[in-house]
Amino acid sequence: MNADPSCIFCKIVAGEIPAKILLEEDDLLVFHDIQGQAPTHLLAIPKRHIATLNDVAQPSDAEAMLLGRLLSACARAAAKAGVEDYRVVNNCGEAAGQSVFHIHLHLLGGREFSWPPG
Ligand code: AMP
Repeated sequence: MNADPSCIFCKIVAGEIPAKILLEEDDLLVFHDIQGQAPTHLLAIPKRHIATLNDVAQPSDAEAMLLGRLLSACARAAAKAGVEDYRVVNNCGEAAGQSVFHIHLHLLGGREFSWPPG
């Protein structure tokens, strides 16, 4: 498994730091965000380290499959968390709000959301 020892999400994958895991599959994890911005705030991550969406702009077949599974995992996790309406967000790059450089999808639900986002 491709891992970055300094990456906090790789440490969660390795079990080195705790997380409230909702869903685990072969190649991905979904766990609760430590600073929830909604009643349900989950993070879906691949187990292998990919820093940003820009790193998979030209995905291999395996990476394309993984990205698709990550998105569909949000639907499986939402069902498990009991939310029907939800928002899925990826922040790519610092100016867009990315603070952890291990690709992840935020799944937010359980309240109303405005558009456009801030
Ligand atoms: P982003 O700013 O889009 O990179 O999102 C990173 C998210 O990771 C933030 O919402 C943080 O609250 C969350 N986060 C950081 N460290 C942890 C952790 N140890 N466990 C769970 N969520 C975390």
